[in-house]
Amino acid sequence: MDRRYPSARPIDPEFVDDEDRPEFPPELTNLPWVDVHNHAHTLSWNDRERFALSGCHAMVMMAAGYYWTPYRPVEPSDVRYLWDDALNRLDQIERSHIFDAKLGIGVHTGVRVEGWEELVDLMDDYCALEEVAVVGETGITSTQHVERWDLDGQREVVRRQLEVASAYDLPAILHTPSDPSGIDIPFRARGTVPGYELDLDLQQSPVLDADDVKRAAVEIDVELADEAGLDQDRVVLSHASREVAPFVMDHTDCHLSFTVSYPWLHDVTPRDVAAVIEEYGPERVLLETDSAGVLRNDIFALKRTLFELYRLGLDLDTIRTVAFENPMELLS
Ligand SMILES: [Zn+2]
Repeated sequence: MDRRYPSARPIDPEFVDDEDRPEFPPELTNLPWVDVHNHAHTLSWNDRERFALSGCHAMVMMAAGYYWTPYRPVEPSDVRYLWDDALNRLDQIERSHIFDAKLGIGVHTGVRVEGWEELVDLMDDYCALEEVAVVGETGITSTQHVERWDLDGQREVVRRQLEVASAYDLPAILHTPSDPSGIDIPFRARGTVPGYELDLDLQQSPVLDADDVKRAAVEIDVELADEAGLDQDRVVLSHASREVAPFVMDHTDCHLSFTVSYPWLHDVTPRDVAAVIEEYGPERVLLETDSAGVLRNDIFALKRTLFELYRLGLDLDTIRTVAFENPMELLS
């Protein structure tokens, strides 16, 4: 402690050991990042500007999401409207906000869609478009909104979509369920105010009978990808958890994508992401916000996660691999 300041009396830095001083690379503030799974077209203009301001280089917006269809049961034309709405607005979104935006086209399994076959047939023409970067989001899920979708039915609709992904050499974004009740909110940061504008009383009883529904769904998803002829390294398992990581990393070639913007919903923190990277390496890890207009979202969460990963001991190259290089390679 030989640092001296011309201050009237000693100030804090004089008591700080230089060896304890953390060194932060300024490049961390400029590091580009890619959000591989969100629904940013359902957010506001200001929210999308926040993506750009915090360094978002590219994003994939999932056009499928029953939250935005007013009618129950959901029909193919309702889902197609969602695809068309996103497709219609994509160019203007990119012009306004600089980042590169692409779409995910798919049939979400969060609500049963009567006559979904018609949609899968249409997917061929959509997936041939330059604007479409992935098939999704889809994937086996445990509970549905308003109307259940039994497991055999889900297997069929997911497999068929994975066949389309394989035919067009697109990655597939597969969401994974979190809890037998479908949506379990571990804690609510603001007392009893729910973060989800979805009537959870309309969620149906689970179709997956397993203690660990995420693991069970992942196992089926991987099986379906194999059956569909889609390489496992083209499969992105969204809403990853620390608990499911050992199975995915040791027994598959799939990517694990951590939803970092809803710790109150998915119970994932930067510490979980760092632990998985430390144990299995960064090569198959991705980050996503899944931000959507129906949830209390935090666009800056992804950028904040990058800072936290550094504080938790990951080096700049590793963070760059996860935030930028992995998704760019996957989507190119
Ligand atoms: Zn999503």
